[in-house]
Amino acid sequence: MLYLTCPNCGPRNASEFRHGGEAHARPAVPDSLDERAWTDFLYMKQNTAGQQTEWWYHASGCGLWFLADRHNTSNDVIRTYRWQPKAQPPASNDTDHTAGLPAAGAP
Ligand SMILES: [Zn+2]
Repeated sequence: MLYLTCPNCGPRNASEFRHGGEAHARPAVPDSLDERAWTDFLYMKQNTAGQQTEWWYHASGCGLWFLADRHNTSNDVIRTYRWQPKAQPPASNDTDHTAGLPAAGAP
């Protein structure tokens, strides 16, 4: 029996969850993609055997979408966790206080 650990609710039977498919990074500059690239992003999956990161939805519980690193041939769940946004670049009206400074570790 497959169990998943919801970050909110803890371990639960997998029947409480809905699989949301493979997780992969969104395009960095969405406006730069043409229709073919968007189609590939939305519908073309890697579908490789082995460990992958997947979206899961706790449908019969708290309603949280979360990520799971799972081995899809053995069903071993390595970890589950909440999605976290990457650090965003400063908005255009923000002042970049690091402009012109040497990179860390530069002589
Ligand atoms: Zn939950």
